[in-house]
Amino acid sequence: MAYEQLKQELITYSKKIGIDKIGFTSVDEFSELKSRLKQQQELGYQSGFEKGSIDERTEPVRLMPQAQSIIAIALAYPSKMKKPPKSTKEERRGVFARVSWGQDYHHVLRAKLEQIGEFLEKKMDGFEYKSMVDTGELSDRAVAERAGIGFSGKNCAIITPEFGSYVYLGEMITNIPFTPDEPIDDGCGTCTKCIDACPTGALVQGGQLNAQKCLAFLTQTKDFLPDEYRGKLGNTLYGFDNCQVVCPKNKGKDYHFHPEMEPDPEIAKPKLIPLLSMSNREFKEKFGNVSGSWRGKKPIQRNAILALAHYKDEKAIPELIRLMQQDPRPVIRGTAAWALGKIGTATAFEAIKTAKQKEKDEAVLEEMDKGLDFSLINS
Ligand code: SF4
Repeated sequence: MAYEQLKQELITYSKKIGIDKIGFTSVDEFSELKSRLKQQQELGYQSGFEKGSIDERTEPVRLMPQAQSIIAIALAYPSKMKKPPKSTKEERRGVFARVSWGQDYHHVLRAKLEQIGEFLEKKMDGFEYKSMVDTGELSDRAVAERAGIGFSGKNCAIITPEFGSYVYLGEMITNIPFTPDEPIDDGCGTCTKCIDACPTGALVQGGQLNAQKCLAFLTQTKDFLPDEYRGKLGNTLYGFDNCQVVCPKNKGKDYHFHPEMEPDPEIAKPKLIPLLSMSNREFKEKFGNVSGSWRGKKPIQRNAILALAHYKDEKAIPELIRLMQQDPRPVIRGTAAWALGKIGTATAFEAIKTAKQKEKDEAVLEEMDKGLDFSLINS
């Protein structure tokens, strides 16, 4: 079979099933990525969410010995919400980053890759493949870059000429020797807008990311958020896409091709106070289908508390006092205490003092002291 003809048929089929961009690359080692990963490991820049060893992440044949090519796909997602609800003084709202709008993209892209798999299975005997979306060993971005989907921006996102960086990426290692596509030239030039806009300095020169400083990563951790980042999240509950929003390559890019990627405004921009008393079941029912819920309820509630502190929302005080006194999770009790101090009313400070007498957890007691310290700053 002429592989070039099969490639063209697949490209046509991919458009039919709603894949916005497709590219092909070899299974050669990702040597540049390998040295970058080694450097990141040495510097402690990794997130800890990575799967597999550095060799597995950069040598596709280690994942599939008969591998001959990699197919990269991209689906464009919306950057603007239709009729977003306003966060008002009466009802403060948090926000999920765009990457968590609509249905969990992992499911959407895996289904598309499965369709490609079935298509190629019908075309070729002995077809073998292995698909990945975000959580696999391979770097979606490195594959997409080499397959000509887009160039890697200084914000570490893949920037496509058509849809900017508002694209979800996935890939499939195959045993078909498809001819590789050419990468696209780097288009950042002298621009440094994303680096300048990053509030924590997480974007290191040369397109490196220090995940430990990246707010998008920090919104997903389950422990106390380090003090220096608490004031920087604003009302963000999950993810952080400042570095995409400021990028001139994303100007005017807002595509609504996929109904399943349309955000439900009440989920993408939920009211903050009701989030604090949500049961696990209620949380799963409301947020279970979005990618931002993958770490469970605790990080989202912790971030909601920080958002209420950011707004200094006095209406949240009774609920924060309840959490500080009764929640079984130290991170929630402690963050609530810190937030009460930040909001800083007499009632809030009194409540911290009272709760402190009963609290046994060292870390929570420390947060209570930090909360009380705000009274000194305010006086
Ligand atoms: Fe590149 Fe500028 Fe976009 Fe950053 S903001 S990714 S430097 S074009």
